[in-house]
Amino acid sequence: MIRLAILGSTGSIGVSTLDVVARHPDRFTVAALSGHTRIDLLAAQCRRFRPAYAVVGNADDARRLATLLADSSAATEILHGPQALEQMAALPEVDAVMAAIVGAVGLEPTLAAARAGKRVLLANKEALVMAGAVFMAEVQRGGAQLLPIDSEHNAIFQCLPPLHAGNLAQVGVRRILLTASGGPFRTTPLAELCTVTPEQAVAHPKWSMGRKISVDSATLMNKGLEVIEAHWLFNAGAEQIEVVIHPQSVIHSLVDYVDGSVLAQLGNPDMRTPIAHALAWPERIASAVAPLDLFAVARLDFERPDHARFPCLDLAFQALRAGGNAAAVLNAANEVAVAAFLERRLPFLNIADVIAAALATVAQAGLPDLAAVLEADRQGRIAAETALRRYAT
Ligand code: NAD
Ligand code: MG
Repeated sequence: MIRLAILGSTGSIGVSTLDVVARHPDRFTVAALSGHTRIDLLAAQCRRFRPAYAVVGNADDARRLATLLADSSAATEILHGPQALEQMAALPEVDAVMAAIVGAVGLEPTLAAARAGKRVLLANKEALVMAGAVFMAEVQRGGAQLLPIDSEHNAIFQCLPPLHAGNLAQVGVRRILLTASGGPFRTTPLAELCTVTPEQAVAHPKWSMGRKISVDSATLMNKGLEVIEAHWLFNAGAEQIEVVIHPQSVIHSLVDYVDGSVLAQLGNPDMRTPIAHALAWPERIASAVAPLDLFAVARLDFERPDHARFPCLDLAFQALRAGGNAAAVLNAANEVAVAAFLERRLPFLNIADVIAAALATVAQAGLPDLAAVLEADRQGRIAAETALRRYAT
C-alpha cells in the first residue's frame, strides 16, 4: 500500500491524481492533501479520501474547512501555512508525494519531500527550473526517488534504459526531442497576437490545465521551462535537447539513439497516463485514459518552432546556457509577467520583454544553496515588476 500526500490536490494535476488513486483503493491511501483556494473542493476531497491531514494557506481557510468538515466522520487534522506544507511532505506516514503546487511557492515543500527520501512525483517544474542543482543534490542526499509527471519528461523517462544513471552518452543517447503542441497561437497572424486576451490564451487546443501553465503553453515558455527541466532530470546539455512542434500532441517526446533508433511514447493527451505511470512505477496500472486510436489520429505532423513568434523559448535556452541564477530569474520574471497578463495589466507580446529585461538587469551569481535560490527569485520578481511599468496597460 502506497501512502500518498498531494501538494496542490485542488488543481488540475491534483484532481487527475485523485481520479487515478480512486480507481485503485487496493494500492493507494491518501495521507495528506493541500489546497490554497477552492476550499469547498478540498472539503469534498477530504470526505471522500479521508486523509489524516489537510493543509490550507491561512487560519481563515482552516476555520472554513473545519466548518465544512464538522459533520464528517473523517478525522482530518487541519493545518495551515508554508511550514505545514513542508511538514506534510515529510510525514513519516507518507511514502510518495505528488508535487503539484504551481510556481515557485512549491519549491520548499517539494524540497522537504526530497530531503525526507520520499518517492517524489514531480509536476511542479518551476521548482526544478529555479533550483535545479540544489534540488538534485537533496534528492541524492535524501535517497529520494524522482519520477517526472510532466508528460514530455515522463515520456523520455519511459524511452530511456531503466538503469540510466545520468550519463546519456554511456547509454547511447544522441538527443532528446521534446514535443510541443505549439499552443493556441501557433497559426494566429502575428499582428493579432498583441491583442489576445487571457481567455484566448488559456484555451489550449489539446490539454486542459491550470491557468498559469496554459499561458506558458501559449508563449512556449512552458517548453522553455521543460528544456531546463530535462537538463536537470536527465543530465542533458542544451545542445542535446531539441524542441519539435507536433500539433496533435500524441507523441509526448522522443529519444534519439546513436544507432539511428528513435524511441517515442505515444498516447491520448491526458495527464492521467503519466500520473498512473509514476504512481505505479515500475508496474503498470489502469488510468481510464481511452486507448489511442491511430486510425482516428490518422497523421502526425512536425514543424520547427518559430523563434520570432515565440521569443520565450530562446530566453529559456539563454538562461540554461548562462547557468547560475539565470533560470531562477527567468522563472520568477515569467511568474510575474504571466500574473500581470492574466490580470489584464500586460499585453501578451510584452511577457517576453519583461522576462528579457529581468535577465538583463539581475547580476549573474551562483546558486550554491537554497538561500541563494530564494534571493535570485526575489531579485527576478523585483526586476520584472520594474520592467512591467514600462508596458503596463
Ligand atoms: P492549477 O493552477 O490547476 O493548480 C495549482 C495547485 O497549487 C492548486 O491546488 C492550488 O491550490 C495550489 N496553489 C496555488 N498557489 C498556492 C500557494 N501560494 N500555496 C500553496 N498552494 C498553492 O495548476 P496545475 O495545472 O495543476 O499545475 C500544477 C503544476 O503541475 C505546475 O507546476 C504545472 O507546470 C505542472 N504541470 C501541469 C500540467 C497540467 O496538465 N495541468 C502538466 C504538466 C505539468
Ligand atoms: Mg509538459
